[in-house]
Amino acid sequence: MKKLEDFADDINKCSKCGLCQSVCPVYKITGNDCAVSRGKFVMLDGVLKGDLKLNKNIEKYLDMCLKCGKCKNFCPSNIDVCEIFNTAKYECAKNTIQGKFEKFFESKLFFGIFMKFMKIFRRINSAASISGDSGKCCIKLLYFKGCVNNVYPKTERALKKIFSNLNVELIELDFDCCGLPFLSSGNLERFEEVKKHNLELINNCDFAYILTDCASCESTLKGYFNSTHKSLEESKNTSIVREVSRIDGGFLFVNAAEFLAGQNIKFKFKKPVKVTFHKPCHLENDDFLKPLLEKCENIEYVEMKDYDECCGFAGEFAVKNPKISRKISKQKALNAYETGADYILTTCPACVMGLHQGFLAAGKRAPKIMNIIEFLAFAEFADK
Ligand code: SF4
Ligand code: SF4
Repeated sequence: MKKLEDFADDINKCSKCGLCQSVCPVYKITGNDCAVSRGKFVMLDGVLKGDLKLNKNIEKYLDMCLKCGKCKNFCPSNIDVCEIFNTAKYECAKNTIQGKFEKFFESKLFFGIFMKFMKIFRRINSAASISGDSGKCCIKLLYFKGCVNNVYPKTERALKKIFSNLNVELIELDFDCCGLPFLSSGNLERFEEVKKHNLELINNCDFAYILTDCASCESTLKGYFNSTHKSLEESKNTSIVREVSRIDGGFLFVNAAEFLAGQNIKFKFKKPVKVTFHKPCHLENDDFLKPLLEKCENIEYVEMKDYDECCGFAGEFAVKNPKISRKISKQKALNAYETGADYILTTCPACVMGLHQGFLAAGKRAPKIMNIIEFLAFAEFADK
C-alpha cells in the first residue's frame, strides 16, 4: 500500500495554476482554496516537509471533496488527485476514534454480514438467472451488480427483464462491494480486501464482458486493473493476459445501457414521454445515450443545462458536508426541473439520491428519477 510520501513528486507537479478552481463543484460553492486540489496540495506539501501535521483541520478539507475527478481531467499536470487524497485520508483516519468507528461499520464482519443478510433475504424474490440459447452464438456477460441492488433491487430486476430477451448468458458470482465507499473513507485495507476477492472471481471466470449497471462501480473496477496491470500480465493464466490487452483497447467493461445501444432492438413506449439525463461524474463516456434513445419510440429527449455537472451527493461527502452537498444538488435539480421532463434518467444510484436531495432542497415536486435501465423496462420490447 502506498504512503503519502510516495506521492511527493506528484504533489510537487502542481504548478498552482488554479485551473482546477474553474471546474471544482465544491470550490464554486465555497470559494475556499482549501476545498480544491491546489489548496489541498499546498497543505500536503507542508505535511511532507514537516511544517504541518496531518490533523483534524486537514482531514476536514480532505473530506471536502466529491472525488468527482473533474479537476484531474482538467489539470495540465495530469495529477491523480483522488489517489493522493485517499492516501492522505487513510493516514489521517487510521489512528482516530472516528476512523476506527468507520472501519468497524465497513468491516467484513459488519458490512459483509449486512450485505450477506440482504442477499439471502432478497433471494426469496430474486429474478431468475439468464442463460442464453446455447444453440446460437451467445454472449457471456459477467454481471457485477453493485451493493445497492442488494437493498434496492429495481435496477437488477429491470436489467434481467430486458436481457432475458437477448441471446446472452448472465453470469453471477459472489462479488463483494466494488470498494468505492472504503476508498472515500480512507479505509484502504478494506478496499484492498474487496479488490483481492473480486479480482480472484474475475480472473477465474470465462466471459466476454463485465456488465455493470452503476457508473461508480464500473469506474472503481477499472481502477483495479490500472493498478494491477503488471501483476496480471505476469500471470500464467493466458486468458487474463488476453483480457488485460482488451482493457487497453477499452473493451472489457460494458455498462448495460451501452450494451443495449449496440443491439438490434426497439423499446416501444405506449404514451409519449419527455426525458432528460444526468451524467454521473464516474461515467467516462455517454456516447451510448443518443443511439439508445433513438431505439425508443414515443420519447422526447431534452438536455438539461450542465447535464454533466456533479449531483453533489457522493455518499460520505453528503454526510460530512450536508450544506454544500444540498447546494450543489439543488442547482442540479433546478436545471433538471427547467426541462419539464417527466423522467430524469441516470446510471448511478448515488446520483438518484442526489437528485432527490436537490428537489427537496429546491422545494420543487420531483419528476420520476431512476436508472435508465429501470426506465427502459417499462417499454414493450421488440426486435428491430
Ligand atoms: S489544475 Fe492541477 S496544476 Fe493547476 S493548480 Fe490545480 S492541481 Fe495544481
Ligand atoms: S475531485 Fe472534484 S470535488 Fe474534489 S477537488 Fe477535484 S474537482 Fe473538487
